[in-house]
Order: sequence, then C-alpha cells, then structure tokens
Amino acid sequence: MRPSILNPLFADLTTLEGVGPKTAALLQKVAGPRLIDLVFTLPSGVIDRSHRPPIEATRDGEHATLTLTVDAHEPPPANRPRSPYRILCSDGTGCIRLVFFRAHRDWLEKQLPQGATRIVSGKVEQYGNQRQMVHPDAIVDPDKDGELPSAEPVYPLTAGLQPKIMLRAVRDSVAQVPDLPEWHRPDVIAREAFPSFQTAIREAHNPETRMDLLPDTPHRRRLAYDEFFASQLALALTRRRQRSLGGRSFRGDGSLVAAAKAALPFDLTGDQQKALQEIQEDLARPQKMVRLLQGDVGSGKTAVGVLAALSVIEAGAQATLMAPTEILARQHFESIEPMLKAAGVSSVLLTGRDKGQERAAKRRALAEGFVQLAVGTHAVFSEDVEFEDLGLAIIDEQHRFGVQQRLKLQEKGQGTDVLVMTATPIPRTLALTAYGDMDVSQIREKPPGRKPVDTRAIPLARLNDVVAGVRRAMDAGGQVYWVCPLVEANDQLEATAAEERFAHLQTLFGDQVELVHGKMKGPEKDAAVARFASGACKLLVATTVIEVGVNAPDATVIVIEHAERFGLAQLHQLRGRVGRGEKPGSCILLYGGEPGGLSETTKARLNVLRNSQDGFEIAEEDLRLRGSGDALGTAQSGFPTFTLASLGDHQGLLEMAAADAKMVVEEDPELQSERGEALRVLLYLFSRDDAVRRLRAG
Ligand code: ADP
Ligand code: MG
Repeated sequence: MRPSILNPLFADLTTLEGVGPKTAALLQKVAGPRLIDLVFTLPSGVIDRSHRPPIEATRDGEHATLTLTVDAHEPPPANRPRSPYRILCSDGTGCIRLVFFRAHRDWLEKQLPQGATRIVSGKVEQYGNQRQMVHPDAIVDPDKDGELPSAEPVYPLTAGLQPKIMLRAVRDSVAQVPDLPEWHRPDVIAREAFPSFQTAIREAHNPETRMDLLPDTPHRRRLAYDEFFASQLALALTRRRQRSLGGRSFRGDGSLVAAAKAALPFDLTGDQQKALQEIQEDLARPQKMVRLLQGDVGSGKTAVGVLAALSVIEAGAQATLMAPTEILARQHFESIEPMLKAAGVSSVLLTGRDKGQERAAKRRALAEGFVQLAVGTHAVFSEDVEFEDLGLAIIDEQHRFGVQQRLKLQEKGQGTDVLVMTATPIPRTLALTAYGDMDVSQIREKPPGRKPVDTRAIPLARLNDVVAGVRRAMDAGGQVYWVCPLVEANDQLEATAAEERFAHLQTLFGDQVELVHGKMKGPEKDAAVARFASGACKLLVATTVIEVGVNAPDATVIVIEHAERFGLAQLHQLRGRVGRGEKPGSCILLYGGEPGGLSETTKARLNVLRNSQDGFEIAEEDLRLRGSGDALGTAQSGFPTFTLASLGDHQGLLEMAAADAKMVVEEDPELQSERGEALRVLLYLFSRDDAVRRLRAG
C-alpha cells in the first residue's frame, strides 16, 4: 500500500481548488492525471519582474514591467465589435497600447481607469511603428507593487490553458508536498549539499532568475538524483528477486561444445572466447542469469550464443534462440545447422507461419523433450510454447525488442537463464537506465580479415552517379543493398517508397533486382531474400527489414537513402551488412537536399560514422550529439525516459545512483530498516511501486 503521507499528491487534479473537469483535462494534457504530475512539471522559464525599463528602452519580444499612465480607452468601433479593445498608455519616454481581445469593457475600466497609474507586466511587441502589449499578465496599482512577485515561473502549456491557471494549479500542488523522511545517506546529502526533497521541489518551482533553472543547481541535482535513484533501486530490487527465484546451475561436460567448435570453419576470436567463458560461468552458478551479450553486426554473437546453448543442453536441459523477425529466425536456423549436426543435437524452427498439424507436432516435441533446441520468433515463444525443461532462453534482439517485452519474457520462464544478444552498442549511461547494473559481455574484436567499410555521404541530387557506381560494383561481381528511407511509424509509406525505388531500378537493371519490405507476405519475402542470398539477383531494394536479417557474404555496397533520418547506431548496423567476405565494402549515405542544407548536427553525425567503425564509440558520440531521446530511436527501443533528470546533464548522478542502489540491495534487500521505510516512500513517489509490491509478495 502507498504510504498515506503521499495520498494527497496522488489525488485527482479536480481536488485542487478551482479546478473542474474541464481544466483538469487541460492540465492532464500537459502534466498528467494527478497532483504529483504537476509537482514534477518543472518550469521551463522565468519571468523577471525586476526588469523595469522605460518604454523607450523596451525591445521587441522582451518581457518587461512598465509603470504607465492610462491615457485613453479605444473600444472597438460599434460596427466591428470583434476587433480588439485598445488602451493607450505612456510614461513620459514614449507610449504603448495594451491590447485585449474579447474583453469586458467594465472590467477594463475598473482595472485601468483613465488617468490612473498602473504597473503592467507582459511581452512588449513592435506592431508596425507602434509598441503594444497583448493581454498583460499582471496589472497592479502602484500601492500594491509589493504584491507582485519579483519573478514568476513559466510552465509548459497547451491550447486553451491560461498561464495563470497552470501557475496556480502547480503552486497549489507544490503546497501539498509534505516534509518526507530523508531517503539518501547522510554522507551523500552532506557531500552533494542536497536540500531536502520538499525544499528542492519548492526551490525548483520558485526561480528568481534563469540561473535557478540550470541543471546543476543543488535543487535540480537533488531531484534528478531522486528520480535516478528510484529507478535504479527498482531495477536492483527486481533483479535481486529474479536471481533468487530458484535459478539453476548448468554445468556441462564440454563434449557438445567441443564437437560444435570443431565443426566451425574458424577459431573463435579472443573476445568470443571470453564472452563464452563469462556466460558459462554464469550458467554454472545457481542464481538465475540475466546477461547481455553486446557486439556489432558481424562480430559473431551467434556462434557464442549457440555454444552457450550447447552447454545447457549438455547439462540435460533445453534451450531456445529467439529472433525478432521470421527472416532472421530462418537464417539462424540454417546457419547454425552444421554446429548442431556436429554435436548431434536436434532442433526445430518455429515461426508464426507454422499452422495446424505441423505446429502441433513441433510443440509436442518440445513439450516432451524430444527436441533440445528451438529457434523461432519471439512472438511464438511469448504465446503458447511449452518446454519439457527450458534452461536457457537466448534473445537475439538486434535492438528491435523493447525493454518491457524483455522483462515479460524473463518473468515467463522462472528458472530459465536469459541471454540477450544485441547489436546495439548501448552507451553505458543508457544501459544503466534500462538494465541497472546488468551483467554484460562485450565482443569488440572483429573476426580476422574484416576491413573497414568505406563510408561516404552524397547528396540525393547525385543519384545518377550513385547508380553508375552501383552498376560498376555489380559488373565486378558484387552485390548491392539499397535501403529505402525510414518513415517513422508508417510501414505503408515506407513500403511505397521502396516499391517506387524498386520500379525505378528495375528499369535500369531488369531482373537483377529484388524487393523486400515489411508489408510483403512471409513467403514472398523469403523468396526475394533467398534469391539475393544465393546470388541469383544482385541488387536488393529493401526497407529496414534487412537490418535484422539477410546474410550475403558477397555484398560489397550498401546505399542508404535519406541517411539523415536514421540513428547513427542503426546506420552502423546497416553498414555492417557489407564487406563480410573477401572484398572490401562501401557504404553510401544518400542524403536529401543540397550539401549546404544539412544541419551542423547532421553533418557532425555523418562524420562520426565516416571516421569510426566501432559501434560503441559511435553510440557514445550519437548520444552526445543528439541527446538520449533520439540516440536509439528510444521510443521504440523502450528505454525509460526521465522527467526531472536529464541523461546529458546528470550522467554522474546516474552512476552514483546505480552504485548506491546496489549497496542498499546488499545491506537491506527487504527495505526494512528506517532508511528502507523512507526508500519505499521514494519508490512510490516515482511510481516504482511495482518493485515494492513484489518485495512484499516475494
Ligand atoms: P552477429 O550475430 O554478431 O551479427 P554472426 O554471428 O552472424 O554475427 O557472424 C557473422 C559472420 O561472421 C558469420 O558468417 C560467422 O560465421 C562469421 N564468424 C563468426 N565468428 C567468426 C570468427 N571467429 N572468425 C571468422 N568468422 C567468424
Ligand atoms: Mg546476429
């Protein structure tokens, strides 16, 4: 149950005085449904009412507080009642008109009687050669000047929501924030000079100047730390619980692994060996494993994953390898077959396309334990598949899975160890937010013989030159990927763009061209990909579906249209599709508009890609250049977002929070100490109460 001290903050917005359902709906749009959401909506600006220039010295667009004499009322003419009501004012240095739309004359005459002096605050605008101020946000009698606050916070708004209403709603909500027990360690509080939570909230909402809005003020840092800490603690608690949920120890005799290794036409790289060893050690431990295996496209994660699966199979359990798309599941199934054969392990491929009896037979084989390894799409496994004894689930996510989905899968198989393989080089900062202090194995070393992919940026206007280059590459026996633009959240548009480009290239290259996109039916997709993989066709026009599939060692060129729309990490992954064989690869980033039309950031991003082949380095740079919001297309990748904290500004605090959360979980895993009680309040405050509830239940 939520600590009762927090109840007022979690009440509906309508509990605020003067807020009815209509206003509540507007406030909810900006912040959220409860008072706490308003409390966590920090000001984006500040109005400085101490700025009091003479009219003469005001500048267009600035906010100013003026002392004015009301000279004349200029009501709208009788035949145009909808035109604004103007009031001419002056101060000896110049004059300005106050402008009101749909104003009540009585009210205006009372507020601004002719001949009176008033202090008026608002945004000054130049209108033709006259100055005006539309709807001043404060009008006071000079006697009451003291009542006008010297500064006022500015909040985000939505259409129909008056600044004053928002201001009052936030102020009333903030007033409900109680003095809460301190949840941070005293030494942290002292070292960082953190104010209490209550003080920090009040200060954050009462800026005097713009300086008070900066991310490194003590109150903003405190709040950022609170938010990070809540999320890190929740992750650490969840993780501890997962580990304690009857994990199992898998210790194989090494026979199957040895046989499969011997069947590989290459030796594992040092990094692959190290990763495999880390995974095997984890599997042998009695706790539940949740480990991330990171490595660029082509770094050889599959072999490591399969060898790990064989370790578990040696110990008598089953394993599964899940891929995000059918194409990829199919390719995995085919590519790992020699290893499995050498080890004498039986496997099935299970996808959404299996129907009826075939599907039933496969499911039965898994449920009864005849089959030791199942390869398929993740959808299949989250539905209805049962295993006789599933020991290890390997999720090849290629960054397509959300964190939420992953957690769900982890919850499913209770004693099952989980290995997540990802080609997304997640910067440590982001990894921390999503996984907490998760165990990570990295493959940074490329298999021997890989050459860097030559990367260039070329404007779309030079399409003909690019097509000529593509022709040369094909004539030299190479294969080419042509990736069509990413259309955010619109598969249909994306498919149409691909179809158009396909039609265009087909007129030039005839039946050498194939097309694959997300709207095509499974078998159609397979056929196209198969023709490309076998070398029967030389040019594959594709949407980003190829990002997660298609292994064609002879591919030497990849053209990416509207490269500026992709994330760097994504471009890097796409680029990893070429230059895997003998011949070096090249990557052409086609961007829209003229060279001068690219923003500095875009140019900088494309340069990062040209200058580095290391996915980790690229991801860090991308995070730096774009901020976390976009680095991985975070919306789809399911990384948590923060309200009070910013990954760019508060990185150090995140690291601190991770370390401190780990300590809490070691010292007081059930949150039973006095500080533990306070930490429960923190978790509820930031809606991380899932973690608390599980604590009680488990
Ligand atoms: P990832 O899944 O990490 O993108 P894959 O596992 O698909 O990469 O491996 C890419 C290619 O590299 C495959 O053709 C694989 O057989 C090959 N490969 C993997 N490890 C090595 C190695 N140590 N030496 C040479 N080639 C390797
Ligand atoms: Mg792979």
